[in-house]
Amino acid sequence: MGTVIYLDNNATTAVAPEVREAMLPFLGSLYGNPSSMHTFGGQVKAHIDRAREQVAELLGAHPSEILFTSCGTESDNAAIRSALAVLPERRHLVTTRVEHPAVLNLCQAIAHQPAGLPRYRLTELPVDGQGLLDPAAVEEAVDDDTAIVSIMWANNETGVLFPVEKIGELCRKRGVLFHTDAVQAVGKVAMNLENLPIDMLSLSGHKLHAPKGIGALYVRRGTRFAPYLVGGHQENSRRGGTESVPLIVALGKAAELARDRMGEENTRVKALRDRLQKGLLATCAGARLNGHPDRRLPNTLNISFEFVEGESILLMLDQHGVCASSGSACTSGSLEPSHVLRAMGVPYTAAHGSVRFSLSVYNTDKEVDKVLEVLPPIIRRLREISPFGRDQLAGMKK
Ligand code: PLP
Repeated sequence: MGTVIYLDNNATTAVAPEVREAMLPFLGSLYGNPSSMHTFGGQVKAHIDRAREQVAELLGAHPSEILFTSCGTESDNAAIRSALAVLPERRHLVTTRVEHPAVLNLCQAIAHQPAGLPRYRLTELPVDGQGLLDPAAVEEAVDDDTAIVSIMWANNETGVLFPVEKIGELCRKRGVLFHTDAVQAVGKVAMNLENLPIDMLSLSGHKLHAPKGIGALYVRRGTRFAPYLVGGHQENSRRGGTESVPLIVALGKAAELARDRMGEENTRVKALRDRLQKGLLATCAGARLNGHPDRRLPNTLNISFEFVEGESILLMLDQHGVCASSGSACTSGSLEPSHVLRAMGVPYTAAHGSVRFSLSVYNTDKEVDKVLEVLPPIIRRLREISPFGRDQLAGMKK
């Protein structure tokens, strides 16, 4: 494979060289069990403690509020299952129609538990055409029976940000637990959880230049928590299982890097993203932005190219070494447009032609130039062979 232009960082990110370096000793000589009594193990424990501090610093939290998990999905499951366990008399969950499957499918599974298990009601809140969520809808949905509100901080497909502070305030007023899936927001948006009304927050290492297989859950001090993985005393008895020391150390280092890069580097990434957006909207006929133009992550660009198949665009981009992703659930073998774009009311013909570009600190101006050079002719060529009525394409000759 030649040079790759990787613009799929909301799917996963490259492991930062500094992160790889930091974790290597724990795949070598420092293999002790952090729970062991001997000095050899204790030495390792100190590195877990440091990683916990590094993650806490990125979030503006206290180290005791950080619990390491295996991924974002586990963090989401742990948060939601914990709320139901500590509030067994409450039988209502609130989420949105645009959550990642880690939350949405879980909530739906809970709402459709087999007979004999507790019955739960689920409210899935809608979003508007720009993917925004009205906090008033949360207020309306919450009732005395609500155990948890789980609403993402940033959408993985469009990058649209939700007003988590307002939502948290509403939840607090009603005495309802608030969890946010911040897997896409952490490292891209500055946050200070100490001052935010958020009870639990999920993050995932592989979205911020740590390896796959490590995540964390923030649990605010004083929040009752029931372990999801029941076992030993690890993680302050909140998650059983011998700690994955190399991955925990890696996440700590990635969090430190993300904190250092928060200001200047994220501004540079946003400028690259904006240039890509401007160039594509100007040169590709029938191109439209999905999601709010400003209330968005700095790295994410979701564009629909009407009357063209997103998968075809991806395949042709792939021939140029450009990695992006489409809004269709093609990986599941169906060509249904994404549930996020459908919830936003994006027309079928546009949703089918959607492409997500998600950048990282490793992207360069030259890479953006290359995409701006190769993509417009791809769109023109695909339009020419589009099975959709040519009448609809009339006037789209850019
Ligand atoms: N939540 C969001 C918003 C995501 O984007 C993802 C991954 O794409 C997840 C949760 C799941 O994270 P993980 O892959 O670490 O399980």
